[in-house]
Amino acid sequence: MSASLSSPTLTRLRWHRWLPADPKRRLRAGQTALACLFSLASVAFMAYGVAVDLVSAQALWIWVLLVSAGSAGFVTAIASGWSERFADPSLTVAQMAYAIGCCAWAYAVAGPLRGGLFLLLMVVMMFGMFALPLRRMLGVCAVSVLTMGLAMVWQVNQPQGGTPAAVEAGHLLMLLVTLPAVALLAARLRQMRKRLLRQKAELAEALARIQYLATRDALTGLVNRGHLGELLAREVQRQRRKGARLSVLLIDVDHFKQVNDRHGHACGDAVLRSLAERSLDCVRASDTLGRWGGEEFLLLMPDTGLEDARTGAERLRLHLAREAVQHQGLTVPVTMSGGLAELRDGESPEALLERADQALYRAKALGRNRVEAAAG
Ligand code: GH3
Ligand code: MG
Ligand code: MG
Repeated sequence: MSASLSSPTLTRLRWHRWLPADPKRRLRAGQTALACLFSLASVAFMAYGVAVDLVSAQALWIWVLLVSAGSAGFVTAIASGWSERFADPSLTVAQMAYAIGCCAWAYAVAGPLRGGLFLLLMVVMMFGMFALPLRRMLGVCAVSVLTMGLAMVWQVNQPQGGTPAAVEAGHLLMLLVTLPAVALLAARLRQMRKRLLRQKAELAEALARIQYLATRDALTGLVNRGHLGELLAREVQRQRRKGARLSVLLIDVDHFKQVNDRHGHACGDAVLRSLAERSLDCVRASDTLGRWGGEEFLLLMPDTGLEDARTGAERLRLHLAREAVQHQGLTVPVTMSGGLAELRDGESPEALLERADQALYRAKALGRNRVEAAAG
């Protein structure tokens, strides 16, 4: 038997296909199923009543029918997505009203055991605590008082000698006192939950902002050196796993010190910002341009061999040299030199950058405003 229910068999049955795929719907259906499981446990209470001869067997079967029909109905309505046409797809008020109706009916037939139904009623009220606003909660309380009141009138008017009216009046009074307190408590809980949810959303937003800032260079808004290093290491790993190609271009602004010396540091900053912005117009979406430090930039070109990388680097160099940077009425012509290298099999990120740096050095030595490639 156990062998026939082994996990491959269960997988073949694909029971999980019965669960809704939408995570929100799945959660709602799960919560409703749990509430239904609790209400099924109340069958034990009625069965006890039958065992001690205080409840009729017929009442027990009607209770079983009410609880299982309600459970099946609500779980199906929620899991199928039918309930999504309503403002509250969890059908909280409808579920509570149904459960209150069941409690009232059980109160009418449970004889001397009916006191237990008050506790069940409180559990039903707790069910709505997190979801319902005060006005709705007060409405549900009114429904409770009304239906339970009717059950009490029924109890008093039993033909074979009902319970004394004074006892049921006391029960009703107790309900009238406790239910508004439950409603107020529920409203406070709901407020707390809303505040927690808001704080959670604010924290998530702040975390995303911090994560963004931690990976960005403050001056140019490009990826910073730390994050570039991580991305490079990741790409090198990918190349090792999949045999993908990877090229890097180390860029250095030519005679940048002169820009600072002639026009001031603020102008130098503006030139760096402008170069970064204009470079982004020219690099492919799959490439990553970052600020390596000072007036040096690094371009990561995944899935790119040396020849294609050289074409891209030349395009970038010409693009930047074509237009001088304008800053507060000043025209500042700038050029860049670049050192290219393609990752070799088994090469470390540091060794790759070292070869790109040597190529850059050569580009400077050969007169600047040019791109040199390291030997493959
Ligand atoms: P080369 O063509 O050989 O690269 O000459 P260069 O003048 O560009 O090189 P050098 O290394 O002598 O000078 C780089 C200058 O970049 C020096 C430094 O003050 C300046 N610099 C570095 N970071 C910044 C920055 O964030 N803003 C500004 N305005 N200048 C910076
Ligand atoms: Mg430099
Ligand atoms: Mg320089």
